[in-house]
Amino acid sequence: MDVTILGSGTLLPDDARRSPAHLVEAARFRLLLDCGSGTVHGMARDEVAWRDLTHVAVSHFHTDHTGDLAPLLWALRHGAEGREAPLVLLGPPGMARLVRALAEAHGEFVLDPGFPVEVVELARHDRYVDGDAGLDLRTHPARHTEEAVAFRVAAEGLSMGYTGDTGPHPPLGVFFRGVDLLVAECAVRDDRELEIHLSPRSVAALLRDARPGVAVLTHLYPELDPGRVADLVRDAGFTGEVRVARDGLRIHLSPRGGGGEGPEAG
Ligand SMILES: [Zn+2]
Ligand SMILES: [Zn+2]
Repeated sequence: MDVTILGSGTLLPDDARRSPAHLVEAARFRLLLDCGSGTVHGMARDEVAWRDLTHVAVSHFHTDHTGDLAPLLWALRHGAEGREAPLVLLGPPGMARLVRALAEAHGEFVLDPGFPVEVVELARHDRYVDGDAGLDLRTHPARHTEEAVAFRVAAEGLSMGYTGDTGPHPPLGVFFRGVDLLVAECAVRDDRELEIHLSPRSVAALLRDARPGVAVLTHLYPELDPGRVADLVRDAGFTGEVRVARDGLRIHLSPRGGGGEGPEAG
């Protein structure tokens, strides 16, 4: 399983961090988790095979997580001629309405870019299995907006989790328990104590509970110093491996040979 951080930033303009987008590649799928602004051009910069995306799943409808959905379909409409494989658009309740509204605003290409587009609305506690693609995707409510969900992806005996946007929410620790990789938002400073975003201290609490093989911190607002944030999470009591995302960071997960102690992140 390969995970590429395409956007490690927020809704604010940032010269180094695009809005949230994360690519998961395993088995026979290429899944985009969120599609914030900057994703389309970022996929070229990070040398992603964007014409071959199979699924896009959005965590909630804030524009920093959905802004490049229509531009992605527009790019595929004109840049992926001859494509026949369907693209599946997944999202929480309201996803079908969002896609319909994009089609009304921008044009029918959103639903008909020259190949089949399938919209699948997931409940906030749900499971989507695509046997042909080898994808097993689960959702869990996040604490952010009324529709916001977190994702857990399993394929080929490996698993990764993505918080989307969330405030402190203990059930997520159970939902993510034992994932090989957890991409966790870490948006704000500890002294802000927001209910709808995590800070180094609340991320540490989530990670202590979830016990991922590797944690990657993303969705960093400029108020956080990327050079210090991993230390803050460690100081708050998480003793596992923690890294800070940057755009273009690629993490390869593979089953660990021999000991069977779990996967290796390279
Ligand atoms: Zn949000
Ligand atoms: Zn956000």
